[in-house]
Amino acid sequence: MLEKYLNILEGKEKAAYLKSKERGEFEIKLKQAMKEMESCNLCEYKCGINRYNEKGVCNTGKASIAAHFMHYGEESILVPSYTIFFSGCNFRCIYCQNWDISQRHVGLYIEPETMARFIERAYERGAKNVNWVGGEPTPNIPYIMEVLDKLDINIPQIWNSNMYCSIKAMELLDGIIDIYLTDFKYGNNKCAMRLSKVKNYWEIVTRNHEIAYSSGEMIIRHLILPGHVECCSFPVLEWISQNVPEVMVNIMDQYTPYYMAEKVKGMNRRIYEEEYESVLNFAVELGLNIID
Ligand code: SF4
Repeated sequence: MLEKYLNILEGKEKAAYLKSKERGEFEIKLKQAMKEMESCNLCEYKCGINRYNEKGVCNTGKASIAAHFMHYGEESILVPSYTIFFSGCNFRCIYCQNWDISQRHVGLYIEPETMARFIERAYERGAKNVNWVGGEPTPNIPYIMEVLDKLDINIPQIWNSNMYCSIKAMELLDGIIDIYLTDFKYGNNKCAMRLSKVKNYWEIVTRNHEIAYSSGEMIIRHLILPGHVECCSFPVLEWISQNVPEVMVNIMDQYTPYYMAEKVKGMNRRIYEEEYESVLNFAVELGLNIID
């Protein structure tokens, strides 16, 4: 169970990004990542724009950090987690609980050198990992690489993402990220389009989960959506059991109608207890490794 991660925490193994530096790969990846700022294809929107001059669908030019702090609300195995929240996202989830940072351009650019020092201080205070999140971290891969370039402590890197990354982005992350902490909530493209305004969700997100599975360790978060047990929860869990069976799965029951959800039919309520129980029972029947 997350063996490599635990080994890193105990100092038995090096964090992936340090090993990448030793292999001489990190520098190449850093250069490749910086090139994406000039023509961004980091997520499947593939805007191809110069992010120094323009913003794409994710509304992100240079990285903008909305908050960074020691987080105690993540999965118990991960806390305390030094969590860095970027502003901007490539999804438009109508119920986003972080809409104030994901759907607005807020926050500040923090020099990579300065952010690296913040991470060192957090590590000294007991942080078990660096948790890159948003909004969405994908548009910020160049910045993350710049920060890691200035860092050399043995702290695991967590990729906390909607997994709508391009293959190029997945290649950049390979060998840098220790744990993929993914958000996998839709069991079909129709629900993803209706509630998050994204195309080809199922094909892209399943592909990236398979890539991540072969690259690092993985915890999948599945948020149960009201009225979406059969169309979303069941297919997602079934896919996990068939394709990435050894990952940890966090089945989340805290859906709350934030942001615009009050106005969307069927989405203006919490989930029912029976919905949670049927999803949990299904996960148990499939033999998934459930954590919280
Ligand atoms: S990260 Fe995605 S949405 Fe943002 S500019 Fe790049 S390709 Fe476009």
